[in-house]
Amino acid sequence: MCRTREAIYTREYSGERLCEQCLRKSIIIKVRKTIGKLKLLERDDKILFVPLGRDLDEPAFQILSTIESSFPEVSLEIIKPELPIGYDEIPRAVREYCRQDAKIVLPLFLDDLVAIFFRYCDTGSPDVLIKRGRLVIAGEDIKNAISPYIEVISREVGVAWGVKTAENPYLKLAWELEDDTPGALYNIYHSYERIIQ
Ligand SMILES: [Zn+2]
Repeated sequence: MCRTREAIYTREYSGERLCEQCLRKSIIIKVRKTIGKLKLLERDDKILFVPLGRDLDEPAFQILSTIESSFPEVSLEIIKPELPIGYDEIPRAVREYCRQDAKIVLPLFLDDLVAIFFRYCDTGSPDVLIKRGRLVIAGEDIKNAISPYIEVISREVGVAWGVKTAENPYLKLAWELEDDTPGALYNIYHSYERIIQ
């Protein structure tokens, strides 16, 4: 990209070699594009960021703050994390924090979306899914609960901001696929978005 700084990360699916600054910038651009494309946020939204108790929360919040800093009417609030929120606890968290006038943002990434889909295939329980950036809880579309990070791989965020990524068996499966076939996560995402319509 910039060719002036040392690359710290190679995107296997595109061949891009990125320095820390360009990697961060590229992630922020991806999130901004997702917000626009899926119309996830409005200019006067009250946003409540719900951390999942993972190291990725902090960079995810920073990314959103950076994007929203150009929209002064947006209010962005973060709740204090209690215990880590696993996929199982997402429905409870969504119900707890979903207020009529606020939009809740969960830091769920592309690999989470795929892992949650694998979990659904494995358990058959449709308690939580993500559709076009919005949470679907027990089959019901929750329009006020969103994730604008679903087109970003959490591993890239981990490298760019120097934090540990999350771990669970479904994420492990998602990463094994991506390592075997770079681009697999994006391919699954695009097919999935067509299937789940
Ligand atoms: Zn660079």
